[in-house]
Amino acid sequence: MKKAVVPNSRGTLPSGHARLPEWLRVNLPAGRSQATFNGTLQVVQGNELHTVCEEAGCPNVHDCWARGTATFMVAGKQCTRGCRFCSVETLKQPDPLDTNEPERLADAVERMGLAHVVITVVNRDDLSDGGADHYKRCVAAIHRRLPETTIELLCSDLEGNGQALTHLLDEIPLRVFAHNVECVPRLDSAVRDPKASFAQSLEVLRRAKQLRDDLWTKSSLMVGLGETDAEITDALLQLRDVGVELVTLGQYLAPGRSTARFIPVERYVTPGQFEKWADEARAMGFRGVASGPLVRSSYRAGTLLEEAETGQRLVQLAPAENSSKAV
Ligand code: SF4
Repeated sequence: MKKAVVPNSRGTLPSGHARLPEWLRVNLPAGRSQATFNGTLQVVQGNELHTVCEEAGCPNVHDCWARGTATFMVAGKQCTRGCRFCSVETLKQPDPLDTNEPERLADAVERMGLAHVVITVVNRDDLSDGGADHYKRCVAAIHRRLPETTIELLCSDLEGNGQALTHLLDEIPLRVFAHNVECVPRLDSAVRDPKASFAQSLEVLRRAKQLRDDLWTKSSLMVGLGETDAEITDALLQLRDVGVELVTLGQYLAPGRSTARFIPVERYVTPGQFEKWADEARAMGFRGVASGPLVRSSYRAGTLLEEAETGQRLVQLAPAENSSKAV
């Protein structure tokens, strides 16, 4: 079985590792794109914020930050769950919530001039509401300052706490409520923390749509974890069944060299197969679909939303301009 590795900060593979398939190689920013990348970094660091781009070692960090976007991760940088695909640090008792975080976040979004922003969260099973009230404050702070900016919340499952979800979604100024099922149900126990499951995630998405029919609901699946193509089709159908309208599919890449902590890559799916799933998903009625090897839940999220709202297929997965091939 091949070992997967994500490119390091220079976009290249650590020495000693097999080369990734051509379609998984990333581009480095150059020229104007490099300046934008640096600007994004300064805003993130200057506002003492965390991003999932960095914490999860996302392979698109060069591309997204060079476009001036990032996905902020709120409620700390330690997660109470220990999923086997994710490199975010796990702690049973993370640091207390930072009550100044919502305003610093709003300031960063304003400085970056974002028309659409994705906020993601760590699981906070240590809090009675799973962090719902804090997530809501973060969204509200952005909206107060930037009422025209559309906001997408990539939320935890709140441990299936219906009361917390109701509080979170009540009058929250969101455009997209996202929650990831991550993998097909058969692989839950191998991939996700024991507290998470496909069924619970599906229920969160179903309830969210019931509570706020005016919001787009979105989810994401990783492939390359041991699922079959037919199981992906079935998972997509189950998502449609609970009203999910936006979906992303991407190749799983183990975040580190320790296979004891991270589940190994079982297969590299070709771009052609991702295209087939995109066609299938559109035929099922999904309004926005991004499916490709390097697609992640928040990748080109604003464009995906636009696709859903205009009914026009807009998602281009090409790298940013002025970039140079890294490997
Ligand atoms: S795909 Fe999402 S997590 Fe990855 S770099 Fe882009 S914005 Fe960040």
